[in-house]
Amino acid sequence: MAGVKLNDIWKIYDNGYEAVKNFKLEIEDGELLVLVGPSGCGKSTTLRMVAGLEEHTRGDIIIGDKCVNNVAPKDRDIAMVFQNYALYPHMTVYKNMAFGLTLRKFPKEEIARRVDYASKILGLEELLDRKPSQLSGGQRQRVAMGRAIVREPEAFLFDEPLSNLDAKMRVEMRKEILMLHERIDTTMIYVTHDQIEAMTLGDRICVMNIGVIEQVGEPRTVFDYPATVFVARFIGTPPMNLLEGRLTKKSGRYGFKSDCFECILPDHMQKLLDNQEADKEVLFGVRPKSLIISEAVEESTKCDAWISGKAGISEMLGEEILTHVECGSQGFIASIDPKYEGCLTEDNVEFALDMELAHVFDKETGRNLTIPELVKNDTTHWSNKIRQRSLRRRKQRDQETALV
Ligand code: ADP
Repeated sequence: MAGVKLNDIWKIYDNGYEAVKNFKLEIEDGELLVLVGPSGCGKSTTLRMVAGLEEHTRGDIIIGDKCVNNVAPKDRDIAMVFQNYALYPHMTVYKNMAFGLTLRKFPKEEIARRVDYASKILGLEELLDRKPSQLSGGQRQRVAMGRAIVREPEAFLFDEPLSNLDAKMRVEMRKEILMLHERIDTTMIYVTHDQIEAMTLGDRICVMNIGVIEQVGEPRTVFDYPATVFVARFIGTPPMNLLEGRLTKKSGRYGFKSDCFECILPDHMQKLLDNQEADKEVLFGVRPKSLIISEAVEESTKCDAWISGKAGISEMLGEEILTHVECGSQGFIASIDPKYEGCLTEDNVEFALDMELAHVFDKETGRNLTIPELVKNDTTHWSNKIRQRSLRRRKQRDQETALV
């Protein structure tokens, strides 16, 4: 097992296109890190550079304590699971899983031990004699994972492994990947364009956009404290509402003003905004769930500000209604409890704003101006958390082994 360090990695393709720029990331030993971003942002290129399938233009790639810049893919001691499974159709499940080890001339008994171990973890014991054509999509993906597990690599790389599966199977396989990670406790780098997959799987997620890292952090932190406008729009369904306007400053306190909404910003933002020029063009961000329809506001609820508008289209999703509200020249989406559906027919619908997780972004740079320092410097805390979990699992496994 090993951590993976990417020290200022660049990829410039032959046609001059800079697909990955200035990429600096340290993936902890035993961590499941998800690279997420829209199609074309450079996720696969990054993963393929770690695997050695794509040559990097600049920087150092370090696996464990070894710089692998000039090490061939087969000698990097990593295993990759692809979207299209890449199974051999004429071989049985057993042979598909054993193939890499056979090529490397492993003794038969060792191959049998490893295939047996992997097939037990993945629930493939009953399917070892089948050919890939006799398996479902989910089972094929499990065989592809089994083939990676038998290698006992330092790290696993997953390139959109669930993209070919239907929605129900994807949920099932997400659970299996989490269980697999829990069980084998090996470093995993997982690429996906699906933010829900990223949020549910990652110890940390790394959000990429046009070749650069926008933010790295624990999923919840990235959701609650997006570092940029891009992250605020990319993570969360529906995305964070972003209202255009300007900062104001009255009696030493910052506020926000747009054509449809005005408020004094809460205490925790005042210090963070210190020295920002009043009148600066900004975006005010608030999640649909932080807007509480007036009928649902109780006396005890702390209401820092109110916003109102005309309710337009409503999407009934069962547990919530997403209602699109027109507000001046702008609009926002609110998530409301279906029991308040009747209130949406009124001309003017009012919402209280929960400012706890509202944010102010610099319109020009896209940076979040209201992220607390504690969240920005969260990396040490994370290292400890991952290390502790890893130690706990190893202890558990040692105890289990002692009983066998
Ligand atoms: P992602 O995995 O995020 O969808 P990729 O890493 O596959 O993105 O691609 C990143 C960017 O690099 C894309 O704009 C893609 O068109 C470009 N790209 C990929 N391969 C090549 C290549 N061989 N030559 C030039 N550009 C490429």
